[in-house]
Amino acid sequence: MTKCIECDANIPVPADAVEGEIVTCPDCGSGFELVKGQDGFELKATKTVGEDWGQ
Ligand SMILES: [Zn+2]
Repeated sequence: MTKCIECDANIPVPADAVEGEIVTCPDCGSGFELVKGQDGFELKATKTVGEDWGQ
């Protein structure tokens, strides 16, 4: 389990997750790439194809 960067919701991380795997926040729908951190996986924002928020 890890926290969403965008909305702070809990995102379930599969027990067999591997680095580079993409997880999606169930709350805000943001996609993140899993990267190995000191205490397990950390999230890295990733560009989802076809999404352009124009900000
Ligand atoms: Zn979120």
